[in-house]
Amino acid sequence: MREYATQMEAARKGIITEELKKVAEKELMTVEELMPLVAAGKVVICANKNHKSIDPQGIGSMLKTKINVNLGVSRDCNDYDMEMTKVMEAVNMGAHAIMDLSSHGDTTAFRRKLVSECPVMIGTVPVYDAVIHYQRDLDRLTAKDFIEVVRLHAEDGVDFVTLHCGITRNTIEQIKKYKRKMNIVSRGGSLVFAWMSMRGEENPFYQYFDEILDICREYDVTISLGDALRPGCLADASDVCQIEELVRLGELTKRAWEKDVQVMVEGPGHMPIDQIEANMKIQQTICQGAPFYVLGPLVTDIAPGYDHITAAIGGAIAASAGAAFLCYVTPSEHLALPNLEDVKQGIIASKIAAHAADIAKGVRGARKIDDKMAEARRIFDWETQWQCAIDPETAKKIRAERKPEHEDTCSMCGKFCAVRSMNKALAGEYIDIL
Ligand code: SF4
Repeated sequence: MREYATQMEAARKGIITEELKKVAEKELMTVEELMPLVAAGKVVICANKNHKSIDPQGIGSMLKTKINVNLGVSRDCNDYDMEMTKVMEAVNMGAHAIMDLSSHGDTTAFRRKLVSECPVMIGTVPVYDAVIHYQRDLDRLTAKDFIEVVRLHAEDGVDFVTLHCGITRNTIEQIKKYKRKMNIVSRGGSLVFAWMSMRGEENPFYQYFDEILDICREYDVTISLGDALRPGCLADASDVCQIEELVRLGELTKRAWEKDVQVMVEGPGHMPIDQIEANMKIQQTICQGAPFYVLGPLVTDIAPGYDHITAAIGGAIAASAGAAFLCYVTPSEHLALPNLEDVKQGIIASKIAAHAADIAKGVRGARKIDDKMAEARRIFDWETQWQCAIDPETAKKIRAERKPEHEDTCSMCGKFCAVRSMNKALAGEYIDIL
């Protein structure tokens, strides 16, 4: 019998959980350093008590930046086996979390399979699943139906749930008044908005927040406070709608912490580079250091097909300024459900962004592998270079396809290789070019 409900409560009571110990080890921290951060809500350990196969991870701005991979079937692409293949590939490639965004078919079976087989954190967006679970259209669902789906996901062992608690009936007027270019682009946020508009009722995730907290406390589900009003284009970034929702998310964070419920706060979205740092600081101030989970930010709107790059640029800046968790974006963003290759490209782009930010933030041990790579490059130790590479397969393939005449160069400069020339010059050797 556990003497605590959530990791936050355990930390506040001074109880060292197995999860806390493992996370401290992974982050090269002592338990004494990590515990107060979990107690204060600055680090979350998303580990539902029913997710028995989990290998716990911590999320917080002073820890290594974590990445999330969104997967799940839709009506147009509904092959559950293929989706499971993508999940396992994502886990093997280093994803720290999988969000199951399934919106078609037997979502319960898929979710349970994920929880039983996946060692990474599992997240869901219960509002998507409500329509599928009840097989009723949105306007025929009651507020309590949504809360029941949160309970089902919690019982199934989901580690974190995105809940769009921050919009209210006032938001309906606000969206009309401020005339955003892209209105609401959050799928969950748009469903909550549509439900409120059709039923004339308050947002159930806001109205029944206390009941939700009781459920999340019971199973230790971390709430990821969804940003329904995240900007969907550069023109909408940092507008009144976005900031007003963030203020409410700050209030809800406080209420969750009063019940020892762990919280992350979701963030933008599409955003010009020069606004990213300020947004991270505002979030940290308003939400008192709760980990920030950013969906991008995508730094330009005009690169469909390459949005893994626009998001990686924004993600690196956001994480170096305090975001703790990056949601990957794939080349198929805005266009289609990602295939296996898109998933791979999205993960690699996110990993680069996360690692670049960790170096900039001075996260413990983050730079070590770059220094190892530099040394291997100087002495042309290709095997060590592959070991250090984020995507060794691609690196090996490129070198193999365009082999140089001499092993101590690459085919870019051949014998004009600066590294080779300097090695020889410093060793007092003759430098042959022709
Ligand atoms: S050949 Fe040019 S690009 Fe290749 S390792 Fe040497 S300096 Fe670098």
